[in-house]
Amino acid sequence: MKVGVPSVARRPRCPRCRAFVTWNGNPNRPFCSLGCRLIDLGGWLDERYRIAGPELPDDDAGADDRVAPGG
Ligand SMILES: [Zn+2]
Repeated sequence: MKVGVPSVARRPRCPRCRAFVTWNGNPNRPFCSLGCRLIDLGGWLDERYRIAGPELPDDDAGADDRVAPGG
């Protein structure tokens, strides 16, 4: 008895949308498309920006303290 080996080659799937990824000549691998690639990249970039800390407002040079003379 011979065990049949699946003739279909192992095809990687997109980690984002689980679609089959064309590996050869695909600049966006391991993602299926540029869209999935950017989404994933944007995801972890967004986290990095978030953990960077709260943004402090620009320090205005006492503009609020200055009182314009009436006139
Ligand atoms: Zn995808």
